[in-house]
Formats: sequence, C-alpha cells, structure tokens
Amino acid sequence: MIKKIIFWLIISIIIIFTFNNIIKKKNIPIINYSNFLSDIENNKIKKIKINGKKINVLTTNNNKYYTYIPIYDNNLLKNIIKKNIILNTTPLEEQNIISSTMISWFPIIIIITLWVFLIKKIYKNGNNSFIFNKSKAKISKKKNNIILFKDIAGCDEAKEEVKEIVEYLKKPKKFKKLGGKLPKGILMIGPPGTGKTLLAKAIASEAKVPFYNISGSDFVEMFVGVGASRVRDMFNKAKKNLPCIIFIDEIDAIGRKRSNYINNGNDEREQTLNQILVEMDGFDKNKGIIIIGATNRPDILDPALMRPGRFDRKVIIDLPDIKGRKQIIKIHTKNIPLNKDINFNIIAKSTPGFSGADLSNLVNESALLAAKNNKKNISMKEFEISKDKIIMGTERKSLIMTKKQKELSAYHESGHTIIGELLSEHDPVHKVTIIPRGKTLGLTFFLPKGNEISISKKKLESKICTLYGGRLAEEIIYGEENISIGSSNDIKIATTIAKNMITKWGYSNKIGPILLEKNNNNYYINQNNIEISNYTLKIIEQEIKKIIKKNYLKAKKILLDNINILHTMKDQLIKYETLNRKQIKKIIFYNKNINNK
Ligand code: ADP
Ligand code: ZN
Repeated sequence: MIKKIIFWLIISIIIIFTFNNIIKKKNIPIINYSNFLSDIENNKIKKIKINGKKINVLTTNNNKYYTYIPIYDNNLLKNIIKKNIILNTTPLEEQNIISSTMISWFPIIIIITLWVFLIKKIYKNGNNSFIFNKSKAKISKKKNNIILFKDIAGCDEAKEEVKEIVEYLKKPKKFKKLGGKLPKGILMIGPPGTGKTLLAKAIASEAKVPFYNISGSDFVEMFVGVGASRVRDMFNKAKKNLPCIIFIDEIDAIGRKRSNYINNGNDEREQTLNQILVEMDGFDKNKGIIIIGATNRPDILDPALMRPGRFDRKVIIDLPDIKGRKQIIKIHTKNIPLNKDINFNIIAKSTPGFSGADLSNLVNESALLAAKNNKKNISMKEFEISKDKIIMGTERKSLIMTKKQKELSAYHESGHTIIGELLSEHDPVHKVTIIPRGKTLGLTFFLPKGNEISISKKKLESKICTLYGGRLAEEIIYGEENISIGSSNDIKIATTIAKNMITKWGYSNKIGPILLEKNNNNYYINQNNIEISNYTLKIIEQEIKKIIKKNYLKAKKILLDNINILHTMKDQLIKYETLNRKQIKKIIFYNKNINNK
C-alpha cells in the first residue's frame, strides 16, 4: 500500500516537472527593458500580457518575446494605453500555479514520504521502540500455516499429552460438566528445533482456535514498563477471541529467576513477568486462554512461574530417536521427488543428534544440491553430501595435501575402519573418507545397529580398540617415531570412555561399582564430601591404563594379522578418497581370503 503511494507520488512529480519544462522550452527570447520601451514608442507592439513582473509581448509582425518590469515604472501603463496596445494581466497567484505549488510543497512531500517510509521500516523490523505498548503477538490465519499432528513426528509422548487439550478446546462443555479443569499454562521443554512451536501451532490448528505467537525477547525492550503493558495488550487481544492459544517462545528471556540486586534490565523483566503472573492468576480456568511457553532452559526459570494455576504442566520434547528421525524425514520429503535408491533407514541412522529443524534443513540442502546439478530427483548421494556438510562444514577440496600426507591419512582411517569392521560387537562402518573437512583430515563413519539404549562393556572396549586403530596403523607402517599428532581426539575419547568405565560404570573389580566424581579438582564418592584416598586414586589411574593397554594390544594384533587389508584399503582410499560400505566389505572379504590361505 505505502509502496504504491510512494510510487505514484514519484511518478506524478516527474510528470509535473517534465510538463513544466516543456512549457518553458518554447524558446521565447528575452529582450531588455529599454528595447521593449522603444518598441512601444515605435508602434511595434500589438499585445502584451503582464504576469506579475513578467511581460509577454506579441509584436505587430507576430514575434514573441518577454521582459521584466523594473520596480518603478509609472509611465509604462500610460504609454501602453496611449499606443492602443491590447493589455492582458493575470492575478499574481495564478502565475504558473503548478510549478510554484510544487516548489513550495516539494520538500514537505519528500519529508513526509521519507518519514512514513522510515516508520514503516522500523515497524517491520520489529524494533518499534516508537510504538510503545502494543503487543506484537501475531495471530496466524493463513491457510497454509495449518499444522496438524500428523505433520509432526518423533515426539509421540508429547503429542499424546497435548491431545487432551485439543479435546477440551473442541468440547469445553463436556469437560466442564465432568468438573474437568484444564491447565492454563503449559511449559514445553526441549532443545531448539525439536518442534515446540510446531506442536503449539498444531494444538491450535487441530482445535481450530486462534493462535497468538510472541517471543519472550519481544517483551523486553529498552523502555521500562513497555513489557508489562505489552502483556496487558496481548491478553486483551486474546480475551476478545476466546478460546485461544498464546505461545510465548523463549520464555526464559522474561521468566528468569528473579535476583536480589536491582538494575534496570532486571527491573523491566520482573515487571513483565509479574504482569504475566497477574494475568494468569486473573483469568478463570475455564475461560479458555491456554498459554504455552517454550524453553530449553527450565533450570533458570523462576519457580513462581511453575506454581499451580500457572505453568503447572510440563511437556518434554527431546531430540528424535532413529524411528522419529525416519518419520520426520518422510514428512519433509512428502512432496519432493525422490530417487529409488533413497533409504530412509540409513539416513535416520546416520543422523544422530539431529533435531527436526536440522533434518528439515538436510532435506532442503539436498534438494538445492539436486537442483544445482540439474537432477530430476534427490538421491542418496545428495543426502550424503548435505549431511556431511551440515555435520562438518563444507569439504576443503582446495586444501592441498602432499602425497605423503594423503597416504598417512589413508592408513590412519583404514586402521579405524578395519578394526571397527572386524570386531563383531562394534557398529558397522558406514563410510570412510580422506577428504579434509573443517578441522579433520579424514573420517570414518559408523552406523549404530539399532537404537542403543544400553551399551555393554564389550562394546565399550571395542570402541576403544577402534579409536586406537588409526594411530596403530601409523605406528605399524611408519614406526613409532613417525606417528603424527592427528590422533589427539581419538586418544581423548578413548581415555574418557576408559575413565568412565572405572569411575562411573563400575567395570573395575578393584574399585567396585561405585560412583567417583570430580568436584573442584578432587575426586569424591558420589560428589559427596567423602574424598577418596590417594591410594584409590592410584588404582583408578592403574585401571584406566590397564583397559587402554589391553585394547591397544588387541587392536594392534588385529591390524598385524590383516596387514593385507590395510595396504589394499589405503590404496583404494587414495584412489577414490571415499569408500562406502559396499566397497569396504568387498576389500575386507577378498583380502581376508588371501590372508587365510
Ligand atoms: P522449536 O520451536 O522447538 O525451536 P520449531 O517448532 O520452530 O522448533 O521447528 C522448526 C522447524 O523444524 C519446523 O518448522 C519443522 O519444519 C521442523 N521440525 C522440528 N521438529 C519437527 C518434528 N518433530 N517433526 C517435523 N518437523 C519438525
Ligand atoms: Zn583417527
């Protein structure tokens, strides 16, 4: 709307100016005043028109010119009348009315336009410190904004919990008859991108009630008192549209624990928080405003928020497991052409720790990649590349590795791969690469066999073995003096596993199944005040070393027994840079046979 007005304003200004210029451009000459006077004297003038100080002249031989009247000329009129010249005059205001209006109004119009534009922009950017106390809660009405429960996956428990609320919103009378009371406030707790907003929207869509969406940080602005009045405004809006849902994202931005010392920022937040509590306490349970707050830091929330009658119901949304991830990918690829080779299981297995938002991003990146390569559909290849990009950053193809570095990296990764693959209790290798990415020069990926809820001691030890596979391959091939520093992370992880096995998971007979935890640099039993003795500390150290040594030697034996595989895999890695599961299995299968002969 505003844009249109500005557009037409500019257009009309341009038209007026050009029009004006055309009028002026008739090339009428100017003549000095004395010549004009002599022309009158010599009867050369037929007609004149006086326009303010300007005199337009038509001569007897039909030439035109103009001149200007000097300040005092009392004789001019007399002479004109005497000579019988036709005289026309125009009132002062009429002179070129358009251009004079434009000149006087132009700056004002410009200023107003700019001002309107600026206000609009500020408002749009959300930084509307000019517009003080209007809440920014937005109601979503768009049809394509409708999210249903079936569009959300991987959080079945949470979905189950909120279904009851939908039922209530749909049939409030039925619930009221039974004396049922609905919570006013629901706190959704979970890491970013797990679908908290989505779930809140789905409740509104399923129940067909309005959905107000606002972020906690919107309340906290630079002026004290703004937050509180925004809260009031938001509730007033909501009360006109009952029943409805108010969703406050990042509620921790306002709902932090109140502290004792006072400064401006805290003061403002407290007022906002208080106002929310006042509003929540003020409305009747059965009226039908349901407030849903989202946070991933429930620990920092003010306990007052969680009291009965406020946000007393908690819904926890965790990162999706394998099954959930598979379903989320399916949802997000519903309307996207997929190649036949797509295997949802593999994608789900290889994306541990991905949130729903990450998975949605993965699908998006893959689609972009397929489009970039002019493909008709997305295949596993695109998913693999995008996944690696999201996990580790883009490939550093430009990083030039010397032949020697590449060989070392190939041996190192082959070491991990062979141990991981040959130890039956270890997760199978998904793929191995020596393409440098981010900080790493190569990587071996494993696919967990299932959704691992519990891990055995045997499996943990196989992990330690595999982690040392890389370093061991370097040691066997190049000798101890030439081992690179590339194993620091492998060592760190292996040591942590070994330490936890002793101090946390009770795998050492000498220590026993007790929890030993660090607290301010000292080990305590169960973090209590029972400090453990130096003697026990010594045993911990010995036991960690024992586990590591045992598995180091075990891994070394496996590599030495399968040195053929190590060499072949290194060659193949240098050749192809990335080997997939099929290729890895093939290499191991054929070279094992030779070895066994
Ligand atoms: P949060 O509010 O927890 O930070 P959102 O609800 O804003 O996360 O999720 C962001 C986007 O990620 C959603 O729009 C959706 O595309 C995707 N997403 C997140 N979780 C899920 C899920 N469980 N199922 C399907 N899509 C999801
Ligand atoms: Zn390694």
